[in-house]
Amino acid sequence: MTTDNVPRFHKLADNVVAVSGYNGRGIAPGTAFGKVIADYIRGNIGDDEMPLPPTSVSETRFRRLREVAYELGSQAVHLLVTK
Ligand SMILES: Cc1cc2nc3c(=O)[nH]c(=O)nc-3n(C[C@H](O)[C@H](O)[C@H](O)COP(=O)(O)OP(=O)(O)OC[C@H]3O[C@@H](n4cnc5c(N)ncnc54)[C@H](O)[C@@H]3O)c2cc1C
Repeated sequence: MTTDNVPRFHKLADNVVAVSGYNGRGIAPGTAFGKVIADYIRGNIGDDEMPLPPTSVSETRFRRLREVAYELGSQAVHLLVTK
């Protein structure tokens, strides 16, 4: 989960890249980003052509509080849907 609902593109090290933070909707964009990353790794596209700018990995603020809020929200939705 990301605070602005936008996934992140990380350059973790030389030749190590990742896209994460699909906010629970990663099946279609994960597939699309997989193809883009393949092109990126092969050198067919550069940083400026990536759909997301490269960002550094950082600790999420209030992480524990967010985890509790997401869990409570999920459980509440499950309760409403299963009734
Ligand atoms: C309960 C639930 C419901 C969801 N519902 C939806 C939905 O309705 N619609 C939607 O769009 N998205 C949904 N998502 C989110 C979606 O599943 C993810 O965003 C998406 O699967 C991410 O794709 P990915 O390829 O990045 O990672 P993953 O699908 O997690 O694939 C990563 C793969 O890497 C493997 N792996 C991990 N470590 C290693 C290792 N060291 N060596 C080798 N292999 C490794 C794992 O086993 C896994 O197969 C849901 C997620 C959850 C948990």
